Amino acid sequence: MKKILIANRGEIACRVIRACRELDIGTVAVYSEVDRKSLHVQMADEAILIGPPPPLESYLNIDALLAAAKQSKTDAIHPGYGFLAENPEFARRCEEEGITFIGPSSKTLSLVGDKIKARETMEKAGVPIIPGSKFDIRNSLAEGRAGKTGLAKFGVNLESEGEKIGYPLIIKAALGGGGKGMRIVRSEKEMEKAVEAGRREAKSAFGDETIYLEKYLSSPRHIEFQILADGKGNVVHLFERECSIQRRHQKIVEETPSTALSPELRSRMGEVALEVAKASHYTNAGTVEFLLDPNGNFYFLEVNARIQVEHPITELTTGVDLVKEQIRIARGESLSKRQEDLHQRGHAIECRIYAEDPKQGFLPSPGQILFLKEPSGPGIRHDSGIFSGWEVTPDYDPILSKLITWGETREVARKRMIAALNDLTILGIETTVDFLKGVMNHPEFIQGRTTTDFIDRHMKDWNGEESDSDLQQALIAGAIFSYMKSGKGKLRIPHSALRTPHLSPWLTVGKWELGSRSS
Ligand code: ADP
Repeated sequence: MKKILIANRGEIACRVIRACRELDIGTVAVYSEVDRKSLHVQMADEAILIGPPPPLESYLNIDALLAAAKQSKTDAIHPGYGFLAENPEFARRCEEEGITFIGPSSKTLSLVGDKIKARETMEKAGVPIIPGSKFDIRNSLAEGRAGKTGLAKFGVNLESEGEKIGYPLIIKAALGGGGKGMRIVRSEKEMEKAVEAGRREAKSAFGDETIYLEKYLSSPRHIEFQILADGKGNVVHLFERECSIQRRHQKIVEETPSTALSPELRSRMGEVALEVAKASHYTNAGTVEFLLDPNGNFYFLEVNARIQVEHPITELTTGVDLVKEQIRIARGESLSKRQEDLHQRGHAIECRIYAEDPKQGFLPSPGQILFLKEPSGPGIRHDSGIFSGWEVTPDYDPILSKLITWGETREVARKRMIAALNDLTILGIETTVDFLKGVMNHPEFIQGRTTTDFIDRHMKDWNGEESDSDLQQALIAGAIFSYMKSGKGKLRIPHSALRTPHLSPWLTVGKWELGSRSS
């Protein structure tokens, strides 16, 4: 394997390029018209334009990606996460073209990508699943009779299904992902509307209206296990990641080890994760997700068949480079470690940095990054796809970077995270940095009492009162200065800075005055 094309953008594309460099493998970046100047394009050995900004015309365009792979004579494609990473059709087309897809086979992707099929397979393998419906609403609908109203028109007895499972329950899309298409139903009264809306949403987001019902667990923790499988019968797990701090069912903070697992529970869950890998004939890197209820019962949720956003915390605590391991497996090599060689050392936390405004319901905040200062120091890693002067586009997911800290203990990692967040300065756009400081400083987080309703329960009243360092204030002044020099774009300063009295005269400088500069 001499050359790898990375079918992705942003921080994960940069991460994969770094791994390739260390393995002396050439890299090909692909980019849409709006990504010409992006970091991954600058970092790769070669870069190929694949189309206009809309994802369907570029990063989701299988033909364009395969054409780029052929043009650049690449041996393999790394899909990153998101976009086509778990698309069985993409993997199949790569297989047909003789290009190595760095991930599981298209067959495994089809199985684990359909949550109903995955649940059935796991149940057969003896893996505990969340109590839920066995029926397939798509088929049931065909049997439902026109003219019928209410729940009867669905062709299944949703009343008794609901009763069997118990309320509250959750409606999910069979092909769902990214926290989309989920709907909580609290009573039978809400069922009809929720099923209809759920189907519509599933159809528009995933192109398939198949949905299913599952018991909605109250205040669970999200615990997932990293697995690696080499296709030669060797499968290992690299312990857990806890990802309970979520917004709208999407992770924003992850840590390992979980404060909720005893060594005994960890080893039981790890064993089950290996069972899941075997039952799905898994190869390459993947993640087995579970929900853990307050009584210590755990249930299979789904398999994520790709590298995860939160993989660095596993790397920092186990010493395994997961992306390099993915490449080695795809090259046909055996796993570099056996289960008994793997250990967790210390504690790691990851905070996802998004171009979003927490003060305005996490509205995306595209725009130019006027200034970036990255933190550094012992135990600090910043996986980023951004730089000063870069324009954050509204076309894609607003993730900018990930800040990861490691410490001998959880408390050391947490304190390092706060210091690192204080040292991370991104000017020009709104980001989630201050909000994440709020999470890190929250007494419940400090106590390790992290459940999936943490944000709803504890961060509702967050008012952005996280303090800025003097350095940040000085940098804000610097950003205003460089903005005045360029006179381009729109000046955006973090809300926190607006509270800084001595800067306020600067902030009242309007566009007109800037336009009238004589230099
Ligand atoms: P997606 O594939 O869209 O990410 P998941 O099934 O992985 O969806 O679930 C994402 C998150 O949604 C979980 O981490 C959890 O917080 C919440 N969730 C999903 N299913 C349930 C459930 N049955 N009970 C409670 N919370 C759930």
